Amino acid sequence: MTVWDDLVGQDRVSAVLDAAARDADALVTAAAADEPLPEASKMTHAWLFTGPPGAGRNQAARAFAAALQCVSPDRALGGTPGCGFCDGCHTALLGTHADVTTVAAVGAEILVKDMRDTVRKSFTSPANGRWQIILVEDAERLNEKSANAVLKAVEEPAPRTVWLLCAPSIEDVLPTIRSRCRHLNLSTPSVEAVADMLVRRDGVEPAVAASAARATQGHVDRARRLATDPAARERRAAVLKLPLRLDEVGACLKAAQELVDAAAEDAKQLAEEMDGKETEELKAALGAVQGGRLPRGTAGVMKDLEDMQKRRRTRTQRDSLDVALGDLTAFYRDVLALQLGTRVAIANADAEDALQRLARGSSPESTLRRIEAIAACREALDRNVAPLLAVEAMTMALRAG
Ligand SMILES: [Zn+2]
Repeated sequence: MTVWDDLVGQDRVSAVLDAAARDADALVTAAAADEPLPEASKMTHAWLFTGPPGAGRNQAARAFAAALQCVSPDRALGGTPGCGFCDGCHTALLGTHADVTTVAAVGAEILVKDMRDTVRKSFTSPANGRWQIILVEDAERLNEKSANAVLKAVEEPAPRTVWLLCAPSIEDVLPTIRSRCRHLNLSTPSVEAVADMLVRRDGVEPAVAASAARATQGHVDRARRLATDPAARERRAAVLKLPLRLDEVGACLKAAQELVDAAAEDAKQLAEEMDGKETEELKAALGAVQGGRLPRGTAGVMKDLEDMQKRRRTRTQRDSLDVALGDLTAFYRDVLALQLGTRVAIANADAEDALQRLARGSSPESTLRRIEAIAACREALDRNVAPLLAVEAMTMALRAG
């Protein structure tokens, strides 16, 4: 097992990153031993990861960050950097490595004030002598000012600084920035690759894995959640029942409220599951006695973890609502496929009755209009419109008739 195993269906990207991580490791090792630095290197100081949602662009960047920080003794024996288990890998993956700074948008834009400390840090040497890594998860949300701050830093990087920028597509990033980055594009993994990963890695029953992979259409995280979490399956089942319920205004408003509440509840549950365990793990790693005080000077690391967890809660809520909207879109796409007589790509075979009823009871034009209403809702949420308002507008537009 290595950090690359988590990237599903991205063999080409993994190979490029693995080669770069090996060269990066050779560079660090030579410098530490005061030996001449290798001349040719596949390592470079700025990378741009693009790809559709769910393909794993953030995971690819994070796996690379882990490989760059890997301190496994196996490396000296020809092992690949990125063991996934050593202290460097583990903390980089968890988001608590002192030399890996993550920038993720909380609102619609990443503001220059949120980038200032990060840019300053990018000009300093890494604390552990390997790499100073800045991982920007939503580079498409950099606004003009914050993008310019990043550009300056990418133009004149400190010798050991690595920028990892993630965005849906190359057009989402300023040309001046992307021309300085090595670009890697991830593709949507196949349904088969996702199902295979669920069986192999997560021990999911093949039939459940296949159905989860098909329902989520190559979105790796969502497939895993659907296959392993009964609550996620319940939420999806409830979402797929929505279209038939939307007959009058009252029902539409109620459905909207339910969608928003379910997303908030989902974020809360996930936080309860993960936060406590991570906090305990970090405390143990920092050398705290059980239930006792933390050693001096470790408060900053704990604060970093809390900040990451807070960001994650906000994102989970947004993502969870987006999952529901994705399920709805897939549902109406299936309705459209039935109406047009193309049976090839039915994602929701388990909701066939509801699909058939809607397909018979409406026209392809109205189905298209509904798919557009869901897209409009997603865009509104992206612009930070209040979730309930955006979702109400959508459920009203989805109303049957
Ligand atoms: Zn490692």
